[in-house]
Amino acid sequence: PPIVSLQGVNKVFSNGTVALKDMTLDIRMGEFLSLLGPSGCGKSTVLRLIAGLGEPSSGRIVWPAPDDHEIGFVFQEPTLMPWATVFSNVWLPLRLKGVSKAAARGQVMQALEMVGLDGFAQAYPRELSGGMKMRVSIARALVTRPKLLLMDEPFAALDEITRFKLNNDLLHLWETFGWTVVFVTHSVFESVYLSSRIVVMAARPGRVVEDLAIDAPYPRD
Ligand code: ADP
Ligand code: ADP
Repeated sequence: PPIVSLQGVNKVFSNGTVALKDMTLDIRMGEFLSLLGPSGCGKSTVLRLIAGLGEPSSGRIVWPAPDDHEIGFVFQEPTLMPWATVFSNVWLPLRLKGVSKAAARGQVMQALEMVGLDGFAQAYPRELSGGMKMRVSIARALVTRPKLLLMDEPFAALDEITRFKLNNDLLHLWETFGWTVVFVTHSVFESVYLSSRIVVMAARPGRVVEDLAIDAPYPRD
């Protein structure tokens, strides 16, 4: 079943830009879906609308099970608080929900372990490499245990080798934990390497032009 559906979604910004035209897409439970397309085709707009950061101009976004609405969002930049430790950065989403540091400890440490940074809880962002900062940002997105992970060109700013390592680690985590992932990229390599499904978009106006299953569907319920 879909975890979330875009139904005839249009997005027109106030300056008249038609960012999305008649976008219909079921995101299915357990799939690793890449949104692939050139700059400006509306990939980020799709993620932001799914995340509730903005409303469609028309059309609907439907969550069949309200419990699934919990999401994790990973941005292109790690966006860590430089004055706070790795632990406190990862704790943030739980803290915003009113979870104390002591109560959050187990979940924070587990998220850090998942991304291979369990020894770094007391480190500060400036002490970490670019790849490690991105891992912290992934841990922060995972700490609330969302069913849906939205990633907006998360590795675009990293060198090729770090990027490849993170691709492998992400794939391993996805295979282990069975999340649903929507991954925005303009790298054909990355989309083919990671995904069970590739949705190709084109620009002006932003729309879906191909929807390719590149692996067996993953039923994970
Ligand atoms: P992508 O992520 O594929 O690069 P975006 O979703 O960021 O594309 O943008 C889609 C289109 O909408 C682009 O033409 C972009 O310039 C435009 N756009 C995005 N955000 C805004 C905004 N807040 N106001 C006006 N136009 C925007
Ligand atoms: P990146 O993900 O940026 O490529 P690397 O994995 O290459 O980072 O690591 C950068 C440096 O940090 C290396 O010196 C590496 O030994 C160290 N490092 C990275 N992850 C860990 C870890 N989980 N435990 C110990 N050291 C680590």
